[in-house]
Amino acid sequence: MNQLLAYLTALIINVVAWNQLQTVQDQQLAILDVTQPGFVLGTHTSWDSEMLKYVDKQNSIGTDSPTDLVALSDIGYPYQFIRSYVLSDLTRLMNDARAAKLDMRIVSAFRSYDTQQSLFNSYAKRYGVTQANRFSALPGFSEHQLGTAIDFGNGHSTDLSDSFFYQPEGAWLFRNAYKYGFVMSYPKDKQTYTGYIFEPWHYRYVGVDNATALYNAGLTINEYSDREAQRLSQWLESARLVVGLDESLPVSRPILP
Ligand SMILES: [Zn+2]
Repeated sequence: MNQLLAYLTALIINVVAWNQLQTVQDQQLAILDVTQPGFVLGTHTSWDSEMLKYVDKQNSIGTDSPTDLVALSDIGYPYQFIRSYVLSDLTRLMNDARAAKLDMRIVSAFRSYDTQQSLFNSYAKRYGVTQANRFSALPGFSEHQLGTAIDFGNGHSTDLSDSFFYQPEGAWLFRNAYKYGFVMSYPKDKQTYTGYIFEPWHYRYVGVDNATALYNAGLTINEYSDREAQRLSQWLESARLVVGLDESLPVSRPILP
């Protein structure tokens, strides 16, 4: 009887563990985001993989283009576009900046694959490919193609340079952008990691909760994703050890005692 009980308990534990692993495999970070303590973005109930999509010099989004782009007409930029869910926080940012007597401008928002291609080509022609690659992205590799990145500027100059950081608008963004859901993608001390020069004008929208968590943790979006991927693999490894899953077997069925 005791043996049967032990068998049934072990069976239940394994089935539960197996189901959890399946869920993790199916939804990947989604489940860990809300269930695992210590996750930076743990307050989120839904993981928006679209919002936190990994894009850098090695990871392309191909020719993808958002389908919900809206013009920034109401804030004075009828020819600039952004994904619809960014609009209200961006409008709030621009209004608050104006209320703070800042001359905040939007220099660039969504850029299509083709636009990025022409832009990179023109930089490459002017500065050479290697130099162009330090501040511009090849088509398919730009956060601007996501429709959630903005290059800010001010009335003095729309020429993007690191002096923007020391101007009132750049300094204000650095301190406040997260309150509107924006994160600086290419900070000064992370050039080796990002592959980009310091870009105090380039921010990407990830929602207020995400941006606040990242700002407090001092992480870029990609640093966070890398860290979580590592944590996920460690967690899966420890889950295997705890429930005694045989690593040589594919996790496709419960391992019975
Ligand atoms: Zn940019």
